[in-house]
Amino acid sequence: MTVDRAARRAQPTLRISAKAERFTESVIREMNRLAVLEGAVSLAQGFPDFPAPEEIKQAAADAIFADLNQYAITWGAKVLRDAIAGKTARTYPGWDIDPETEITVTCGATEGMVATMLGLLDPGDEVIIFEPFYENYAPDAILTGATPRYVALEPPDWSFDPDALRDAASPRTRAIVLNSPHNPTGKVFSLSELETLAAVARERDLLVFTDDIYEHLVYEGEHIPMATLPGMRERTVSINSVSKTYSVTGWRVGWVIAPPALTTGIRRVHDFLTVGAAAPLQAAAAVALGLPASYYGGFLASYRARRDVLVPALEAAGFQVSRPNGAYYVMTDISRLTGEDDVTFARRLIRDPGVAAVPGSSFYAHPELGRSKLRFAFPKQLATLHAAAERLAALRPAG
Ligand code: GLN
Repeated sequence: MTVDRAARRAQPTLRISAKAERFTESVIREMNRLAVLEGAVSLAQGFPDFPAPEEIKQAAADAIFADLNQYAITWGAKVLRDAIAGKTARTYPGWDIDPETEITVTCGATEGMVATMLGLLDPGDEVIIFEPFYENYAPDAILTGATPRYVALEPPDWSFDPDALRDAASPRTRAIVLNSPHNPTGKVFSLSELETLAAVARERDLLVFTDDIYEHLVYEGEHIPMATLPGMRERTVSINSVSKTYSVTGWRVGWVIAPPALTTGIRRVHDFLTVGAAAPLQAAAAVALGLPASYYGGFLASYRARRDVLVPALEAAGFQVSRPNGAYYVMTDISRLTGEDDVTFARRLIRDPGVAAVPGSSFYAHPELGRSKLRFAFPKQLATLHAAAERLAALRPAG
């Protein structure tokens, strides 16, 4: 064997797939890492810095000690699917779901969305996404081989032009992604907006994939699930999770509600992607879904108080604020504060005065649209938010 051939063999060809080349590390999680490194108060990645309810933590521990440590049924433990159907019907009377044929339990809403796209879309299909959007949806589409078509949500109220929505729907379009309450803007889609969307879906025979994880965080308005609108249940895939509602983002337990014919495709993909979500945490999630109705009122009130600390603090520091009607983010405009772009400004803010947020461009396919924006997350203890407010008050304009 020649030296050349041996040398060539010793050098593996290292490349990543064309799909993986098309997206980068999550900017949200990167900002969070930088915040930890620099000792900043992190309002970047949206997760609580306070404990989950005692009874559900106990249920998780109990499940492990009861030896619920082997695989659950791939599409979800029966006790959890029953709890999902029960809780959904209690919250939205009339929305009755068959837990045997219409629910798939997934590793968080994150897996729910990607399993939905992979299970229901083909390469070359198009999917409509409102922009700005939660950063996962674009990689989800890339992994599926589907092409995103973006429809703008226009500040300050983040409304959309119904004609733009109609124009975005081509003969290749298969689905619309809807996230209400909305990350990153805090928008809660109104009934008339949902009706417009539903009308387009019916006219053009589209599916709607809804990410409903902020359903219990509505400060103004009302969360109306798309599946409850006339004629929409049969074309809606409703994705949800325990992460936000019960303050357990690390449990990775979510679910997808879809008509049986669609559930078949979602379950097939889910089975081979992950086999299933953590079995003991599925048992604990069932307990969470059984919490009394009073839990949700207290949960919402605590978030309203958090919002009402952060929003004025940001305004006082010179940010232009879109006051969120829902979810737990505040989208801001930084152009009165700085000429820097969002990424430069976000990095500076982490060092001085020591508050982490997420650059607006990470929520846009057209990054220039987010260059003057920054998103702050407020699922934090009031003490954390007050600490952030104090630091922001010391914010110095760019020299
Ligand atoms: N949904 C949260 C956010 O937008 C967490 C994102 C994530 O890291 N998956 O910040």
